[in-house]
Amino acid sequence: MPSPTDPSRPAPAATDWAASTEAPTVEELTTPLRPLAQPGEISPETLSEARHILRRCDQLAALSADPEGIERVSLSREHRMANTLAATWMQELGMRTRQDAVGNLWGRIEGRDPGLPALVLGSHLDTVPGAGRYDGVLGVLLALHVVRRVQERWHEMPVALEVVAFTDEEGTRFGTALMGSRAVAGDPDDAWWTATDARGVSVPDALRGFGLSAERVGDAARDPASIAAYLEAHIEQRPFLERAGQSLGVVTGIAGARRMRIRLRGEARHAGTPYDLRHDALLGASRAITAIMDLAERTGASATVGHIAVAPDAVNVVPGSAEFSLDYRTDDDARRDAEIERIRQELLRICTAGGLELEMADTHRAATVTCAPGLRAAVEQGITETTGEQRPLELFSVAGHDAMAMAGITDMAMMFIRCRGGISHNAAEAVTLDDVARALDAFERAALLVAVRGGGGR
Ligand SMILES: [Zn+2]
Repeated sequence: MPSPTDPSRPAPAATDWAASTEAPTVEELTTPLRPLAQPGEISPETLSEARHILRRCDQLAALSADPEGIERVSLSREHRMANTLAATWMQELGMRTRQDAVGNLWGRIEGRDPGLPALVLGSHLDTVPGAGRYDGVLGVLLALHVVRRVQERWHEMPVALEVVAFTDEEGTRFGTALMGSRAVAGDPDDAWWTATDARGVSVPDALRGFGLSAERVGDAARDPASIAAYLEAHIEQRPFLERAGQSLGVVTGIAGARRMRIRLRGEARHAGTPYDLRHDALLGASRAITAIMDLAERTGASATVGHIAVAPDAVNVVPGSAEFSLDYRTDDDARRDAEIERIRQELLRICTAGGLELEMADTHRAATVTCAPGLRAAVEQGITETTGEQRPLELFSVAGHDAMAMAGITDMAMMFIRCRGGISHNAAEAVTLDDVARALDAFERAALLVAVRGGGGR
């Protein structure tokens, strides 16, 4: 039951669909039910709903393995609690809910006929350790609150409406990012079956603990014909909306990251060895990392070296080997690969000069995906009509998202919401009430525009 503090329902429609004998027009179907605010203005009803969304973000934040912060990794007890709570919210809206074979939560309402392909709205409910309240969670809640607004007239729509709360977008627990959405896209990764968490629990064991089974994960795959389109709202996680003074942005595409393991081999020697006789692998690695970062800064790529290990790892031994990770992202796969080739040449030069051997091996490689133009236009129109911004900021997502995996089976588009300082994966993650309100209006509008034409992303 809704609590007494729930915001009031949206104002009743001018047209009583249930009593109407005429089929509603596209205009009628896409006109918001609540009183129209001028672009750039936010109605009190929308603000009240945004407050409700933020309270729900707080409720989910409380489902944490870490009492001091937010940690809700996939297939955990907290994940189960989050799915249960979100399922309750879906059921309150009259949605039919189910948890699929990999632990994603789905809710569905039918369109004008049962069994139609669905417009899917969603994001993820898992978090990194020390997470903020909004990464993923805000997208799921915006999707739910769009349903809350449109459910009464959805029986006129040419598509069903589904909300998905994906599991394991972050990949924190097993190092398996996008496990939930990749399973839905029918694109499982063989690495899942051997991955373990920090306590040695394997993915199959964790699935079993969640009441699921590794053998059945394939059942989570959706028939592409059953999905009309996928839309996701997500905090930006970068500072560009804030710098532009805009609340919402339209995503153009999502970078396909390439990750590598780079190993330099030299010779472990006593700390008293003269410099001209050393083959110092760590010194070579530090020069290599500096060269990579210089190149990436010049080209505008996003390069991250987040892990390094040296051997023998002793204070009085010249390192004989150094291994580091490289995560490299650009907005174009060919450009990315060309830059990595330049990096290889530069590293070879550094290694030759230092008497070192170089090994570079890919550990992950994903293709850049582009948001479907038709869906992107709907998101843009939603933002413009809500914020009055004639040219909403276009943003290329350097971060990976579930939409990336969904692009494998359907057209997709994304909307970004400004977050303070671009900070994410941090307890300091913050959004404003006004931005959440605008996001709700814009996302509803985009969903309606897409739904009336039955998807149609291209
Ligand atoms: Zn996320």
